[in-house]
Amino acid sequence: MTARRRQVSVLGSTGSIGVSTLDVIARHPDAYAVYGLAANTSVDSLYQQCLAHRPEVAVMMDADAAERLQALLGPDSGTRVLQGEEGLREIVTAEAVDAVMAAIVGAAGLPSTLAAAQAGKTILLANKESLVMGGHLLMQAVRESGATLLPIDSEHNAIFQCMPADRQGRPGLDGVSKVLLTASGGPFREWSYERMRDATPEQACAHPNWSMGRKISVDSASLMNKGLEFIEACWLFDLTPERVEVVVHPQSIIHSMVQYTDGSTLAQLGNPDMRTPIAYGLGWPQRIAAGVAPLDLVAISRLDFEAPDEARFPCLRLARESVATGGTAMAVCNAANEVAVAAFLDGKLGFTAIPQLIENVLERVKVVEPSSLEVVETADSEARLLAAEMLAS
Ligand code: NDP
Repeated sequence: MTARRRQVSVLGSTGSIGVSTLDVIARHPDAYAVYGLAANTSVDSLYQQCLAHRPEVAVMMDADAAERLQALLGPDSGTRVLQGEEGLREIVTAEAVDAVMAAIVGAAGLPSTLAAAQAGKTILLANKESLVMGGHLLMQAVRESGATLLPIDSEHNAIFQCMPADRQGRPGLDGVSKVLLTASGGPFREWSYERMRDATPEQACAHPNWSMGRKISVDSASLMNKGLEFIEACWLFDLTPERVEVVVHPQSIIHSMVQYTDGSTLAQLGNPDMRTPIAYGLGWPQRIAAGVAPLDLVAISRLDFEAPDEARFPCLRLARESVATGGTAMAVCNAANEVAVAAFLDGKLGFTAIPQLIENVLERVKVVEPSSLEVVETADSEARLLAAEMLAS
């Protein structure tokens, strides 16, 4: 008897993480089947993915895009086309679905990630913004439903791998003193503040080690990506901010480390290719092939480390302060950052003005307890509105 294939839904399938996920799935046709695919507007890419992976359901957030996809697929493709949040909900909560890759970019990923958690699914979490915004709600939903949350962000995946396993095979904190979150330092690691003032979107998106979507690339250049990951680490591993330290490691070979009270430090190393953490998430608790070349340590020959420079990269400090403030401050920080990054990519805001805008918004918005999704979404909208007003003035 052949084992049933695990059914996977990939949210944000046309993006960088989505494409890498489908690449790993395609390497294991006997083990995985694609149940659902979802994208925002990229009809042609989603159409090609439907032909290659034959999902049960394909979701387009945009109504026109959904109509176009339906027309391209025709009536006999075997794939149902759905539209919007309802469609997303369907492909994360359907009985048949075992695992959900949450790889939508930005705050838009929160409702579907939360729905997957409430439905008790195995969640492969790439969408860090959903933890940053709604960490309290998401972790509570995971606890209550018994869902399994596997971090895909390479740093958190590394930490997960280096943590001691408790009896359920989940990471525990026995003997852990600290987490060392590594950061490449991004394309502007050696740039002066003055030079960064005139940085262009192309320069910010030219990451030295990783190939990623444009929003996370800008976040990496400003170190807000590390700030968001700092918040993410606190939620995922139940750590106080004092137990998370950021270390700049320009080669991106060590993906993060865990320090123990006996003086041991465990690290996870690998080539900078997201297919490794994705394969880890898909295969967990087993290991499966990812198509990633093994490390050639002799060719790499050296690994460097330095402290982050928060004077040149204030986003890291802003994220840390948001954790200390608590409540909806992290959602506000995330929303203001999304507005600032979009304005920068549009040529409407300078690179060094990104942290300034976030700080101005954080100073003005009232922070409340994140008691429900609505409260978090209201904080998110208010922060966006304020950021947009500040941009316009
Ligand atoms: P991309 O920009 O490459 O892709 C984003 C995906 O989300 C696309 O499929 C896009 O569809 C879809 N999307 C955009 N807006 C919406 C929306 N409103 N509703 C539903 N779907 C939407 O992003 P990445 O793949 O780089 O990043 C995805 C997430 O993973 C982010 O949260 C990022 O921080 C995280 N991450 C990424 C890493 C990487 O190496 N890229 C590493 C670690 C984490 P469409 O194509 O139609 O626009």
